[in-house]
Amino acid sequence: MPTKAIKTLRLILGDQLNARHSWYQDIHEDVLYVIAELPQEAHYVTHHIQKLCGFFLAMETFASAIKSAGHQVLYLNLDDTQEYARLDDLLKHLIEKFNVTNFQYQRPDEYRLHQQLQSINIEGVETTQFETEHFLLPHTELAHYFKKDKRHRMESFYRKMRTRFNILMEHTLDGQESPIGGRWNYDSENRKKLSQSDIDLVPQPLTFSHDVSDILERIRRHKIPHFGEAINHSVWPKSRAEARQQLNYFCNYLLVDFGQFQDAMTENSPYQNSLYHSRLSFALNCKMISPMEVIRSVETAYYENDHIHIAQAEGFIRQILGWREFVRGLYWANMPDYEHANHFQHTRSLPNYFWTGKTDMNCLRHGLQHSLQDAYAHHIERLMVIGNFCLLTGIEPSEVDRWYLGVYMDAIQWVELPNTRGMSQFADGGLLASKPYISSGNYIAKMSDYCSRCHYDVKLKSGSKACPYNSFYWHFLDHHKDKLSKNPRMAFAYKQWQKRSSSDRQAILQQAKSNLAKLEQL
Ligand code: FAD
Ligand code: SF4
Repeated sequence: MPTKAIKTLRLILGDQLNARHSWYQDIHEDVLYVIAELPQEAHYVTHHIQKLCGFFLAMETFASAIKSAGHQVLYLNLDDTQEYARLDDLLKHLIEKFNVTNFQYQRPDEYRLHQQLQSINIEGVETTQFETEHFLLPHTELAHYFKKDKRHRMESFYRKMRTRFNILMEHTLDGQESPIGGRWNYDSENRKKLSQSDIDLVPQPLTFSHDVSDILERIRRHKIPHFGEAINHSVWPKSRAEARQQLNYFCNYLLVDFGQFQDAMTENSPYQNSLYHSRLSFALNCKMISPMEVIRSVETAYYENDHIHIAQAEGFIRQILGWREFVRGLYWANMPDYEHANHFQHTRSLPNYFWTGKTDMNCLRHGLQHSLQDAYAHHIERLMVIGNFCLLTGIEPSEVDRWYLGVYMDAIQWVELPNTRGMSQFADGGLLASKPYISSGNYIAKMSDYCSRCHYDVKLKSGSKACPYNSFYWHFLDHHKDKLSKNPRMAFAYKQWQKRSSSDRQAILQQAKSNLAKLEQL
């Protein structure tokens, strides 16, 4: 309990664990920091248990850290907050209890929470909103780069960011700036499949030992809906110190091969679920670590190590400087409408195997099992295996959103929604991507070893053994030709479709229809 007279209450949300925020530079005896396990946040979607435990553990650890630094902190767990179904009610109670005259908060990254905090108006209490001081672009500048309902492309945004923040740039004597290596983007070198000898070299991921038994007991006692299994050996950091360790581990052991194997998938490695990926998304999204420090560490590792090629460093930096900042801009420009976009008018429900992982499609089984076991799957599993399946089979985008938002450790709406609705489901009609990210089984066969042990045959397009992704792909194109055939980036696919004989096309469409009718049994 705070001992000094409190004038100011500062709210810290669960994804605002930024110890380097200017709030903490000075100790103010009349300021009380509040961090709370909120029923509304635990309930608004059904979360993976590792996500609930990971957030609560990181919040508790952050509260102890700022308390040790001398700040007054009130940590409220589910026992303390159980009577306050909504954040507003809890805040009103605390403001009254401590006779607070100033209420301060950092701008939430989620539209829903931002609306909620903005609407709080308590007589006699001055409310102030602060920047989170996390992203490269301050919120006030987003409108300069992103306009509502306008098509934006990541690549041009990324180039502006590279230049503006002088990242991986070189300067000639006459003052010209250019990207290091002469190219902005090494995406074409980021598509290598793992051979068996490559697989043997995949490093073991860094893990931390965390005891979450108290948190788990609390979650169960309060009957917070959840799924998945909790674990004590987690790959997710609970503190800034552990996040820094994770970043150093990435720069020392994983960066060297990150770019080239970025899109690869395998079932033949014990570390198949992490490969060369950093797993920094949770630490970044909770703000334990800042995007700029991650980018600068990777840039330094590239400059200091001859064996790290520009394609690896650029491939990684593009994800954070480009994609991460880009999806945030797009989200804020288009909310709240973005949440309801459904360009293809899809209505189907998610099959039950999204909750069990039990399907004969080997690629999808692995992608779902990784997600369900570890609250993680890497980008290509999320996009080209799971998301691709949802789009090709016409799953209603809200169902897709809810699944992604609940299952992944790093899922917070500002980053989940544009990735799911925009990038993966093309539900925004092309605000984020110039064409839908769809593929037949060919792409999965090219980037993984899943097909060799699948019940289905990736070379077949029709018949009971045919890879379902194949017929779904052509059926999707055929079904949505009104919306897609005029897109120049889809011209090649439509030409290929037209080249097939009519009987071939009929057999494929028939196969897709029969698969759709028994989607639960695939
Ligand atoms: P790495 O592969 O090591 O990449 C490094 C970092 O780059 C990530 O930690 C992340 O911060 C950033 N990054 C990479 N790609 C993206 C992207 N498309 N958008 C934003 N940041 C990116 N990312 C989330 O953080 N939260 C989500 O809820 C989320 N949902 C997704 C849903 C779908 C359908 C798809 C296709 C992607 C989603 N992503 C999401 C983006 C990306 O898949 C994850 O950031 C990444 O897999 C996290 O693992 P990592 O830290 O090992 O990433
Ligand atoms: Fe996936 Fe098709 Fe390959 Fe099976 S054959 S693993 S379903 S792409």
